[in-house]
Amino acid sequence: MELELQPLALPGIRPERPVVIAGPCSAETEEQVLNTAQSLANRGTKIFRAGIWKPRTKPGGFEGIGVDGLAWLKRVKEETGMLVATEVATSKHVYECLKAGVDILWVGARTTANPFAVQEIADALKGVDIPVLVKNPVNPDLELWIGALERINGAGLKRLGAIHRGFSSYDKKIYRNLPQWHIPIELRRRIPDLPIFCDPSHIGGKRELVAPICQQSMDLGFDGLIVESHCNPDQAWSDASQQVTPDVLSYILDLLVIREGKQSTESLSGLRNQIDDCDNQIIEVLSKRMRVCREIGTFKKEHGMTILQTGRYNEILDKRGAQGALCGMSSEFVKKVFEAIHEESVRQQMEIINK
Ligand code: PEP
Ligand code: MN
Repeated sequence: MELELQPLALPGIRPERPVVIAGPCSAETEEQVLNTAQSLANRGTKIFRAGIWKPRTKPGGFEGIGVDGLAWLKRVKEETGMLVATEVATSKHVYECLKAGVDILWVGARTTANPFAVQEIADALKGVDIPVLVKNPVNPDLELWIGALERINGAGLKRLGAIHRGFSSYDKKIYRNLPQWHIPIELRRRIPDLPIFCDPSHIGGKRELVAPICQQSMDLGFDGLIVESHCNPDQAWSDASQQVTPDVLSYILDLLVIREGKQSTESLSGLRNQIDDCDNQIIEVLSKRMRVCREIGTFKKEHGMTILQTGRYNEILDKRGAQGALCGMSSEFVKKVFEAIHEESVRQQMEIINK
């Protein structure tokens, strides 16, 4: 299904800079919400975020202040002129937000993973024109992400955006949620007109990672950022370690380098031609390799040999991995490439043997 989109038309801090949505993970108290909002507004933020209902992995944590917090968001609008955004996970959340004049809604990562919940939200939004941002599902499933956007679009909402907040993994190392940048990049390829926001706070899980992840997303041509900012991050009731003060956020945003997205120089088109040339050669060499593989397949068939010769496969992976490392590539990358090539070779030989 093709999405029918309209521009989000959200205000940015400055033209030619990304649209920034900032605010605390959760609305905690009226004072915390208004303090944070005022500081952010003073530093140029135009869109304020705060979670009113918080989906928590385990019971017992702070599950959000609930509807009472919506009145605080109303005050933020009145006193700072910012637009306000919050997460919705049920039709009740949607009705409460619309009643309270919330300007932008987002669907959280745990909700996007559940088509029943997304459909419920879509149904509750039928006939309403409000920007909706859809976070990626917790699991790295692009189709599920696109499916959620389709459901909401199907209800008539055209001002849509995506938020990349990283993907959950069992063994966490540097990141709280692995960025797996190729997934939002593929989303861009599939739906070029869909604005993509980066959420460096939930990807990184720690303050120090906010700036580099913001920069990386800008280098990849993302359209906006949604960043958690709290007037007193260490005391935050949720996600304390990843929130930054409005001051730090403004410093991070000022230092961001925004590069020209479109091709602007002659030399770049020359380089692109070289890339096309390389890609052509890769395809030619691969097809030659497959031809030889099919010959080997015929040989193996005639001599009653098995297709998979494990010793030979390991030898290829090790040899090429080491060679790749010598040529300035990661040996893991080269091994992955040869694994994929080997898989296709085996498939082609199977065809010959079973003929
Ligand atoms: C949030 O934005 O605070 C949040 C709960 O994010 P996510 O849905 O990405 O986990
Ligand atoms: Mn959070």
